Amino acid sequence: MIDFAIPAELAAERDRIRRFVVDKIVPYERDPRLTSHGPNDDLRQELVELARAEKLLTIQAPVELGGAGLGGRSLTHVEQAVLYEAAGWSTLGPVAMNCAAPDEGNMFLLSKVANPQQIDEHLSPLIDGRQRSVFAMTEPGGAGSDPGQLSTTATFDGERFTVNGRKWLITGADGAVSWIIMARLAANPHLPEGPTLFLTDGRQPGIVIERTMNTMDRNYVGGHGVVRFDDLTLPKEALLGEAGQALRYAQLRLAPARLTHCMRWLGAAERAQHIAVEHARTRTAFGRPIGEHEGVSFLLADNEVALHQCRLTIWHACWLMDQGERARHESSMAKSFVSEELFKVADRCVQVLGGIGISDETVVEMIFRDMRAFRLYDGPTEVHKWAIGRKVLG
Ligand SMILES: Cc1cc2nc3c(=O)[nH]c(=O)nc-3n(C[C@H](O)[C@H](O)[C@H](O)COP(=O)(O)OP(=O)(O)OC[C@H]3O[C@@H](n4cnc5c(N)ncnc54)[C@H](O)[C@@H]3O)c2cc1C
Repeated sequence: MIDFAIPAELAAERDRIRRFVVDKIVPYERDPRLTSHGPNDDLRQELVELARAEKLLTIQAPVELGGAGLGGRSLTHVEQAVLYEAAGWSTLGPVAMNCAAPDEGNMFLLSKVANPQQIDEHLSPLIDGRQRSVFAMTEPGGAGSDPGQLSTTATFDGERFTVNGRKWLITGADGAVSWIIMARLAANPHLPEGPTLFLTDGRQPGIVIERTMNTMDRNYVGGHGVVRFDDLTLPKEALLGEAGQALRYAQLRLAPARLTHCMRWLGAAERAQHIAVEHARTRTAFGRPIGEHEGVSFLLADNEVALHQCRLTIWHACWLMDQGERARHESSMAKSFVSEELFKVADRCVQVLGGIGISDETVVEMIFRDMRAFRLYDGPTEVHKWAIGRKVLG
């Protein structure tokens, strides 16, 4: 049976998260430690401790690995959707609760692929909120929408790997400890060649952070880095999963990760709509509240429809995954649809607010800017549509 009802326990947890975000996290949105390169590590740690105190830290991780879960068990994808939406009310909510990108997707991947030693050294401290991680794939002129263009190389002499290459748009690079690096393993007599993942501590000489890029978003801790691997030497234990399987692991990570982006941004878009609705009720023009002008009420109505459609789309893809399906097609449809629709919601909210919409008098401006990037990462809309189109055409 398909059931859209939210069970009482889940609704109570959703409301608890919303209260936590509103009461404890929203006040930090004006903290100077929320810099143009995202929240800094000092702010992140302070927020993480607030969530830890409320037992709201890393709710998504499997409980057997230290995740908070719900009622002593790990969350289903649908439950995750309901709770992440509440967390997303502030872009700092997922940071506090340790369910923001890229750590969240990285934790998911590591929980599926890491060996016991890697779990101890990397996954456990990540789940505990003590360290951060990166997923380093995208390259200037190389891997991007098309990961097959991967140009970072790795060689293997039977004992050690040597990695060389350059990456950019690497979220959280500045300050992250656990680095998942994608490189193309050259032919060698010991291991399969091809795109391969490595997991290592980022604090070593072969990893050079050239700079943090200036971008229009500022919701990710550490911003987005340009990094270089200069004869990075790694022991054979740094191999993550099997050699030559990086693209398969990236897909494993991406399907749920693109949905969790949708969940968090849905919460942020709802917040923007809430602010726009309040404004439409109280701001008057031409003798009445602006919300009573049809042009404004239609903008708000379009938002309401879009928010509802996005929620249902997310829940359906989550439900499929809860049935054990990979839901690649549905998560791809959800990602492209939700990112485009929510950005339109944020834009209409800016419009309803009039001139202050583009100012930091409200958080709508920040949501609008931060959300723009969502149409690009984890697959630009056009790439998803291209894949959907190919499936449609058989
Ligand atoms: C905020 C942000 C954070 C990011 N964080 C990370 C990170 O932590 N780690 C990481 O590795 N990467 C990260 N990225 C990079 C992200 O994964 C890439 O931006 C994305 O994969 C697109 O690659 P590209 O930027 O090289 O664009 P390109 O591949 O150069 O594509 C440019 C445009 O071409 C079009 N296009 C490409 N292929 C097709 C097609 N088949 N059909 C139709 N149109 C097409 C699309 O419109 C696309 O936007 C991040 C990006 C952003 C914006």
